[in-house]
Amino acid sequence: MERTPVIFFGHGSPMNALGDNAYTRGWNEIGRSMQKPDAILCVSAHWYIPAVAVTAMESPRTIHDFGGFPQKLYEVQYPAPGSPALADRVADLLKEKVDVVRDDRRWGLDHGTWSVLCHVFPDADIPVIQLSLNENEPAEYHYELAKKLAPLRDENVLIIGSGNIVHNLHAYAWGKHDVEPFDWAERFEALAREAILSGDHAPLINYQALGRDAKLSAPTPDHYLPLLYVLALAREDDGITFPVEGFDGGSISMTTVLFGQ
Ligand code: ZN
Repeated sequence: MERTPVIFFGHGSPMNALGDNAYTRGWNEIGRSMQKPDAILCVSAHWYIPAVAVTAMESPRTIHDFGGFPQKLYEVQYPAPGSPALADRVADLLKEKVDVVRDDRRWGLDHGTWSVLCHVFPDADIPVIQLSLNENEPAEYHYELAKKLAPLRDENVLIIGSGNIVHNLHAYAWGKHDVEPFDWAERFEALAREAILSGDHAPLINYQALGRDAKLSAPTPDHYLPLLYVLALAREDDGITFPVEGFDGGSISMTTVLFGQ
């Protein structure tokens, strides 16, 4: 069996769930061009809590974790099954580092997960679980924790990080999707890509030392940290591609990073 890719998706606005644009078409193409995984583990920017938790319910609900969007978006459902067995496997892989909270009733699939997966795997027939981001831990912790998940790539489990390399809502031009990106956003994205391609992840783990461009691009860690999970799972002989790219509203990078054979 082939090694499963590991993918970082820049998810951007939840409205992409209803969209038909270059990003959503790119996501769909990724799903169509890969071997169907047996299950999906998603680390979403939107489950940023003071614990490491994994969803363990049979049927995770679709969570509409946002406000002020059209009614149609609240009606979107992504009825993929869960996988208590994969939740147990993840908890087991991580147990050396942390006691994982097995969440079988509270969370579900948030829009970091379903707004992308509804395009990648529109049939919603692959079991999906989420792993939370522990908000109390520094970037290095997340990178090291993620390494423990490595065996899943040989078990046909697709691991996804969903966030945005550049995510600044203060600077975001609401409703203006095609404005020129800010110079700091472009510089930080370029630096990130270079580090990703070089395989030297240290500057990206220590991104807070990178100065003003990094501060503006990742003003809070939540959308940035999922990238570190994906980087930690890259292997030396993986091919590296950026199958989706672009900026939305000047300050959100929609770049997808895919590691695979
Ligand atoms: Zn988001």
